[in-house]
Amino acid sequence: MPVNSDIFAPPEPPAEALPNLIGMRRADMTAALAEMGEPRFRADQLFQWVYNRGVTDFDAMTNMAKPLRAALAERFKIERPSVARGLDSVDGTHKWLIKLADGNEVETVHIPEEDRGTLCVSSQVGCTLSCKFCHTGTQRLVRNLGPAEIVGQIMLARDHLGEWPTADQRSIYERQLSNIVMMGMGEPLYNYDNVAAALQIVMDGEGIAISRRRITLSTAGVVPMMRRCGAELGVGLAVSLHAVRDELRDEIVPLNRKYPLAELLAACRDYPGSRNSRRITFEYVMLKDVNDSEADARELVRLIAGIPSKVNLIPFNPWPGAPFERSTDAAIERFAEIVRSAGYPSPVRTPRGEDIMAACGQLKSASQRASKGALARSAAE
Ligand code: SAH
Repeated sequence: MPVNSDIFAPPEPPAEALPNLIGMRRADMTAALAEMGEPRFRADQLFQWVYNRGVTDFDAMTNMAKPLRAALAERFKIERPSVARGLDSVDGTHKWLIKLADGNEVETVHIPEEDRGTLCVSSQVGCTLSCKFCHTGTQRLVRNLGPAEIVGQIMLARDHLGEWPTADQRSIYERQLSNIVMMGMGEPLYNYDNVAAALQIVMDGEGIAISRRRITLSTAGVVPMMRRCGAELGVGLAVSLHAVRDELRDEIVPLNRKYPLAELLAACRDYPGSRNSRRITFEYVMLKDVNDSEADARELVRLIAGIPSKVNLIPFNPWPGAPFERSTDAAIERFAEIVRSAGYPSPVRTPRGEDIMAACGQLKSASQRASKGALARSAAE
C-alpha cells in the first residue's frame, strides 16, 4: 500500500498563503528568522509565544518590538485547524470534529481522569489497515495529516480547556491535558515523518512540553518503523495485538499478513523502552467467542514472555453494522486473571465516550467524498 507516496501527502498550501508557524519545528523557525536577519534568541522567543503561550496574535508578543511584530505578521500566520463540532459525553469525555483546510475531517478525543487528562490524537484521515472490528477501518485512507494538523489538535484542545499558562503563572496551572496517545484515526507509523515532526514539537521543553514519558504511540505493527520510532522519538509504544495466532490475526488485523506475529514480537523485544524498564502496552480487543478463550490468554502469555509489558484489555466497542459482539464480563475477567497471574498487569479499559461514538475504534469521519478524490488522483498517476 503506497501510503507514504505523494498521493496521500497533505495538500500544499496555495502559493499566496502565508506559511503557518504552527507545525514549524524550532530549527525551521530559527532558519526562517535568520532569513529576516533576526538572531536565534528571537526564534526562541517566537517558539515560546506560539507553542508555550498559545498566542494567535503577533501583537501579544510583548517582548518583541512593534516593527518586528509587524514584519512577522506580514510573513507568517498562526492558524489552528477549525472545530466543526464539539460533543460532550455524560462521562466527561469530549470529542472534537475537526475541519481541515481542504474540508477533510478528523476527530480528537479528550479523556479526563482523576490524576491526568489524556488527548487521543489522529494521524490520518481514514486508515488503510481495514481491521475488521474498527469503525475507522471501514473508511478508506484519504490522506496523511501534516505536522500542523497533528500539533494543531493538541493546541486547540488547550485552547478549549483554557490551559495556556499566563505570563505570571507559568507552572501552576492544573493539567487537564497531561498525556497524549497517538490512538485516534489512522496508523501513525504509516505517516511516520509527519508524526515524528509533530511529536518533536510537542516534546520540546520550551513549547508544549509534554515529555516522551507521557506520550504513547499505538501501532497495529508496522515492524520496520517501530525501530525508528524507538530510536528517534523514544515515546511509549502500544501494540494492537488482538489475536495470538497468525491465522486469526491475518483475518482481523490484515497487516499481519505483511508482518506476522513472530516478526512483530521480535520488534517489541528490540524496542528501547523494554530495556529501560518501560513497559510495552499490548492492546487486546475482547471479541466474543473470537479471541477471548482461556487458551488464547495462555498463548498470549507465552508469546510475550520476557517482554516487560502490560496487557490492556479493551471490551469491543460496537458500531453500526459491526460483525462482532463484546465478550462477556466473565470471559474478560477470566482472561485478565490468566494474564495477571503470569505477572503482567492487565487492566480492562473502561469504555469512555461511547454515547458520542468517541470510544476506541468508533471514530469515523464523513469524508468519503474526499476519499473518492484521492482515489481518482491515484488512478490518474
Ligand atoms: N492504527 C493504530 C492506532 C489506532 S489505536 C493501531 O492500530 O494501534 C485504536 C485502538 O483501538 C487500537 O488498538 C484498535 O485496534 C482499537 N480498536 C479498534 N476498533 C475497536 C473497537 N471497535 N473496540 C475496541 N477497540 C477497538
